[in-house]
Amino acid sequence: MLETTLAGSLPKPAWLAEPQKLWAAWRLDGALLAEGKRDAVLACLKRQEDAGIDIVTDGEQSRHHFVHGFLVGLSGLDFEHKRTIGIRNNRYKAEAPVVTGAIKRTKPVHGDEVRFMRVHTKKPVKFTLPGPMTIVDTLADDHYKSREKLAFAFAEALNAEARDLEAGGADVIQFDEPAFNVFPGEVRDWGIAALERAARGLKCKTAVHICYGYGIAANLAWKQTLGGQWRQYEDVFPLLARSKIGQVSLECANSKVPIELLGLLKGKDVLVGAIDVANETTETPEQVAATIRTAMKHVPAEHLFPCTNCGMAPMAADLAWKKVEALAKGAAIVRRELGAP
Ligand code: ZN
Repeated sequence: MLETTLAGSLPKPAWLAEPQKLWAAWRLDGALLAEGKRDAVLACLKRQEDAGIDIVTDGEQSRHHFVHGFLVGLSGLDFEHKRTIGIRNNRYKAEAPVVTGAIKRTKPVHGDEVRFMRVHTKKPVKFTLPGPMTIVDTLADDHYKSREKLAFAFAEALNAEARDLEAGGADVIQFDEPAFNVFPGEVRDWGIAALERAARGLKCKTAVHICYGYGIAANLAWKQTLGGQWRQYEDVFPLLARSKIGQVSLECANSKVPIELLGLLKGKDVLVGAIDVANETTETPEQVAATIRTAMKHVPAEHLFPCTNCGMAPMAADLAWKKVEALAKGAAIVRRELGAP
């Protein structure tokens, strides 16, 4: 009960990539980079296990960015002639690859990574992929001319990849959909259907991470404009509750999402974010426990998985690991209160 896990990414070691940056440049290349990524994953698994995390991730040590890491295995994309586009409804600008032809998965992308993890940990393993709507919202498109059609093309490719990851030993496959709270109409019209297409046929646990965004100043500024209560999920949660996706990961530490909205996710596992990834101080285990107890008023403990608010890739490594330890200790406090092992 109250098994702990992470939203996804962890800081990379400074010898592998430039620290405290999104889109950080690799500091190795060729065979050395491949070896470095594997060593970083090993260190990351060991530290999660030592901290007491129950469902471990690879910390996304092997990918450059949470969306683009997957796209490199697909045809139909031009990475050479990137174009500046407005992302998340023009919240910020980014250099995006361009869709120039049919999207096809030409080779397995993360299969070797999940098999490597499977050999080196006995803990359940979670693997993250970008969700179809978030991928669409992070690209320029000259071919499909329809966000919905493009999303389903990616959903097909994601499904092939997810089946490979499951076969390689993933216990949980999570799709990251930070775009979900920006386009509630599209979530209703095709977003959930595309997500379910990506997860079709999987027998392992499936999860979706939704999010107000971190790591980019424009995200933090946007959140300042949303008022005292963030109610965007009021539309999205009932749709997710009816979906075939088993788990929902969201931010609850220092969040303005009214906690009672969790009640709209009836029947789902909730990965409750109990660690803020945007501040400079470590939560105490007692603060983590308090967030878990509050969430338990709206979600039964057997459906709660204490987690981080979001990925931790751009954080200082020492701080991130202290937060991971606080997460595990805080969950242990509540487990003891419940008399759970
Ligand atoms: Zn997030």
